[in-house]
Amino acid sequence: MKRRLSILGSTGSIGRQSLEVIAALGLSVGALTAHNSVALLEEQARAFRPELVVLTDERAARDLAVRLGDTPVRVASGREGLLEAATLEEVDTVLTAVVGSAGLEPTLAAIRAGKDIALANKETLVCAGALVTRAARERGVDLLPVDSEHSAIFQCLQGRTGREEVARVILTASGGPFYGMERKALERVTAQDALKHPNWSMGAKITVDSATMMNKGFEVIEAMWLYGLPLERIDVVIHRESVVHSLVEFRDGAVLAQLGAPDMRLPIQYALTWPERAPGPAKKLDLLSCPDLTFLPPDGENFPCLGLAREAARRGGVIPAALNGANEAAVALFLEGRIGFYDIPRLCRAAMAAAPDLGEPALADILAADAQGRAVALSAI
Ligand code: NAD
Ligand code: MG
Repeated sequence: MKRRLSILGSTGSIGRQSLEVIAALGLSVGALTAHNSVALLEEQARAFRPELVVLTDERAARDLAVRLGDTPVRVASGREGLLEAATLEEVDTVLTAVVGSAGLEPTLAAIRAGKDIALANKETLVCAGALVTRAARERGVDLLPVDSEHSAIFQCLQGRTGREEVARVILTASGGPFYGMERKALERVTAQDALKHPNWSMGAKITVDSATMMNKGFEVIEAMWLYGLPLERIDVVIHRESVVHSLVEFRDGAVLAQLGAPDMRLPIQYALTWPERAPGPAKKLDLLSCPDLTFLPPDGENFPCLGLAREAARRGGVIPAALNGANEAAVALFLEGRIGFYDIPRLCRAAMAAAPDLGEPALADILAADAQGRAVALSAI
């Protein structure tokens, strides 16, 4: 299948790598969106000639419209623009690479419009996993994982149908820049320290989430929804080298893993070519020059965010959305140098404690919990 895509968040780390893959595969682009990166979105629009480009920031969008005046590319703005890009008629697949819960509504809109989703925006499943997976099932669209761990699991599960065959999945975590550090030192780390990820070059928010291990906690929730597995069958191991991207243990004891160089272009590409494989731009793994592969337990004492995410998943309802909202606000404050490393879990815990226990939340409940989580985090400083 030759996909025609909308890319939500095309100027970010995943968005830019997606366009490299799309160019290599010769796929076409119907829409590109970003928040306010005028110059880069103009460049991408000229290179890929989509029908529509969107900047959610209104002023930036007006600027872009002037710059693209000599082309047939249409420019839109705001939330409306984002929703239009997500539901564009001639597009069959939407790659969600915006950061944060801003991805939730466009992802739901895309599913309801019958688009397959190549999902990088894990916050969508953290906040509204039940809603999103049910909508996808009802509409008969595929949720194709872009996150490297979930792509690894997806690849290991090809050809298997019964979930009862899966004993557990094991997500690998690099541990981020601070693994092995003690609490005293962690209390003093800065945003600059956190942004030095050992293996991956990613957007600032997910890089901080990797440093706190919240990212892995979110990935546990993401795996739960994507693969319909209970929490107890999702384990995490620290694997500093990021070569084994995750593993599946089957009930007979066989363990399958997917290995590769740390390069997001491979999981992005697999989401777009599945169920087939194609040559592509991702770096190849050289076993003879790759580092020794090591596996260690996560440190739940010094990195409480992984446990917080598990607790949120266990409580269910809107608790994960409250956690996510608080985390987004707290990470932004940490990046501005206004709070310390351990304030992130502290504010997240406060938001979870303040959130109501609701059985089966509707979208409005989830958005309210997200906003309340942000407010709790902001009011605590
Ligand atoms: P990024 O910050 O590099 O890019 C974010 C993109 O979203 C940009 O194009 C930006 O313009 C746009 N954007 C930001 N705020 C927005 C808003 N409020 N409304 C609309 N658009 C907005 O982020 P990234 O590292 O590419 O990550 C994107 C998503 O993919 C995140 O959910 C992240 O968890 C997930 N992810 C990233 C990686 C990675 O290697 N970077 C790996 C796995 C999963
Ligand atoms: Mg990941």
